This record gives sequence, structure tokens and C-alpha cells, in this order.
Amino acid sequence: MRGTLGRPATLGHGRVGRACSALAASRPRRGALAVRASASAPQRSSLIPDTLQGLEEDAEYKEYLAALAASGQQAQTREERRKRQRSLDALGAPDFIATCKANGVAPLRRDPARILQLNIGLYCNQACSHCHVESSPLRKAEQASRATVDRVLSLLRAERAKPGGGGVATLDITGGAPELNENFRYLVEQASPLGVEIIDRCNLTVLLEPGQEDTVAFLAKHKVRVLASLPCYSEGNVDAQRGRGVFDRSIAALKALNAAGYGVPGSGLTLDLIYNPGGAFLAPSQAKLEPAYRSELGSVYGISFSSLLALNNMPIKRFADWLLRNGKMEEYMGLLVNAFNPSAGAALMCRDTVSIRWDGVLYDCDFNQQMDLAMTAGIQTQSVNSQSSGDEVPSGSSRPLTIWDIEDLDTLTSRPIRYDNHCYGCTAGSGSSCQGAVA
Ligand code: SF4
Ligand code: SF4
Repeated sequence: MRGTLGRPATLGHGRVGRACSALAASRPRRGALAVRASASAPQRSSLIPDTLQGLEEDAEYKEYLAALAASGQQAQTREERRKRQRSLDALGAPDFIATCKANGVAPLRRDPARILQLNIGLYCNQACSHCHVESSPLRKAEQASRATVDRVLSLLRAERAKPGGGGVATLDITGGAPELNENFRYLVEQASPLGVEIIDRCNLTVLLEPGQEDTVAFLAKHKVRVLASLPCYSEGNVDAQRGRGVFDRSIAALKALNAAGYGVPGSGLTLDLIYNPGGAFLAPSQAKLEPAYRSELGSVYGISFSSLLALNNMPIKRFADWLLRNGKMEEYMGLLVNAFNPSAGAALMCRDTVSIRWDGVLYDCDFNQQMDLAMTAGIQTQSVNSQSSGDEVPSGSSRPLTIWDIEDLDTLTSRPIRYDNHCYGCTAGSGSSCQGAVA
């Protein structure tokens, strides 16, 4: 049963053709983009100069850089966060926890951890218009240190030493571009013997950056599962969302991954692609979109992959800015609220994921990381949203919990999860998680 809450939806679910073909013109573009012919061989010059030029041409980023120079990075980041949160709150969306309850979704508390997700740092060679972590080549400061990585490994080892190997089966490494963190390879090498699935959330173009020539071989050696962003099989759409030249390089990187066995049946090397919408609409059916990707990438470029994961865009950070600039925030939130799917609510990834920021602060998910909704030492009895549901939730005023505060991931089990308006992005339509659709 679908929820019937909130204002009427003004946009329907994205259809496959619409999802990945004709939306480039309505998407934010970074300057005048020259559409290039598809590359057939890896390029080795850095993408970063193009990315920085794209940022320079973006009016919002000019404002951002000016504010950085005037007030310091951290202060500006907090102010941006407050501005966006006020925008979401002002829309008056129904309280998320109340909506879950009204639709029969069980109390939202943490289950035993199954996935340990580390956001290893925000530095990236790209600066995508939809990026929910606002990564770019400018984010050099926020990087996981060796101490953070060692503590994550120690928690993982403690978990694996439990009878039966514990509950954590996956180490999910995200960023930024994780491969550009100086501790990335150390983390993979140390985690590899622990027998967990290791995921690298790869933007593809990073594999062609100078100094990354052997990254594909490194990933293959450790049987790392590659989750690669490719929001469309069309060059214009990908470059519009992810920056000029990204499609060419992504295709070259996919070919290099295929050549190493990634995405090739029987190789044991998994290459999953990630789709996200190029506008204010929901991800279409994963099952319907995957054959279109397979056919286009296979017939035009000879590329194979394991599976396609379809994710909704969350109304936070750069995508929130785009919604606000284009007057679509209310429309998009209405779409998310009205498309509430109880089945997705029952399978939210925050139930069994522990999300860790580069500096060791603990969150229920990567989106909460970006909203600064940390797990906290204290518990209080009110909603984080202005419309109190009377539920017990972590206190926003308490000190954030970090990886150094806990010895055992089991101590996080049964904690109430922190929710707010952005959570509707996870329960809309087929649902959305770091592993794709959930319902
Ligand atoms: S979406 Fe991914 S590739 Fe794009 S800027 Fe963000 S972290 Fe980098
Ligand atoms: S955004 Fe909200 S619903 Fe989605 S995973 Fe995070 S806490 Fe859960």
C-alpha cells in the first residue's frame, strides 16, 4: 500500500526513456560544455583542472569561494547547512516518524550492524551537480587519518573475532573519491584478510588520474566490489550532471575494469553501476532500467557490468541548492512525501548500517552525516523535527558519539535512529539506499 500523505505529487515516477535521455537541457550545467566524441582508450591527464574551471564558472561556487575566504570553511559549511534545513522545515512536510507509524512501519530502531560504511574523505576530482556530500578538489582538509582508519579496522576485527564472525559482512568505503585518500589502500589491504565484502564507491574517472594507473589491478587483487556512478548511458546527460569530459573518461575506465575481469560473468569480480535521476523525479524501476543500460553500453561500447542500482536524489546539499534555485524544492518534497512506500520504510539501510565520518563521528547513514545528525551520547523524548511525534530519539544537543567511544558495535543496537524530512528520499517509490532500490 502506498502512502497518501502530504500534498499531491506534481511529478510522476520517472520512466526509463525520460530517466536517461531528454533531461540534459533542464539540468544545471557548469558553463558551456563541449560534447566530445567517446574515448576508446584511457586518458591520463588529470580531470581536476576541468573540474576547477567548471566550479569557477558556477555562480554559486564563486559565492562559496568568496565566503570561504572571508569566514573560514567550517563556518560557511554550517551556515549553508542551516539555510538548507530551514528551507526543508519551512515546507511543512508531515513528520517522518509519524508518517512511518501511520503506515504501519515498525519502530525505527537500529538492528545489529551488518554494514560498516566509512566516508574516508570529501576530496574528489569531480564536483557533480547532484553531489550529496558536496565533494570537489577544494575539499582537501576533510580526510580520514591513519588513526581513524586503524580504529575502524580495530572495530571490524573485534566484530569478526566473535563466534560465527559477527554480524558485519561488509566494509563500504565511500567519499569523495576514496581512492585519492592516502590511507585507502592500507584500509583495503588490512580489511581484505578479515573475510568481509569490501566495497569501493568509485566515480570511474579517478581510475584515470595520474598516479592511479594500477588502481584497477589493486582492486582486482583484493576482489573489491566496485560500485561505479554512471547516471546515464548518454554523454550529454552524464557530462551535464558530472562535469565536462566525465562520460569519455567513465567509458574508458569501464573498459579498463572489464579488461581486468570486472563485470565479466564468471570472473568473481563485481562491477555494479549506479543510476540517479538527472532532475526532480524519482528513480525508475531498477529492473526496467538495467536492460536498457546493458543494451546501450554493450552494443555501443562493448561494456558489460554485473547489476544496476537505482537511487533517488536526496533533497540535501548540492541537489537541494539546485531544487531551490529552480523553484522545485516544494514540488520535489511533495513528490517524495506522496510516494511514501511502507515496504521501503521497513527496509531502510539505516537499520543495519553504521556510517562513520572521516574524523570518526558515528551516524545512522551517509545522508545524516551530511545533515550533521550524529549519533549522540544522550537520548531525549521528542522528535528532531519541529512536529514532535513523542518518540524517543537521540538528543541533538548531546556530544556526538565517535568510534573511540565504543568498543563493540553491538552497543549501538536498539538505539533510536535520527530522522528528518530528507528521509522521505529513502521511502519514495521503490525506496532508495546505498544498495539501490529496497522495495
Ligand atoms: S557525486 Fe561522487 S564523483 Fe561526484 S563530486 Fe560527489 S563524491 Fe565526487
Ligand atoms: S536518510 Fe533517513 S531514512 Fe534514509 S537511511 Fe538515513 S536515516 Fe534512514
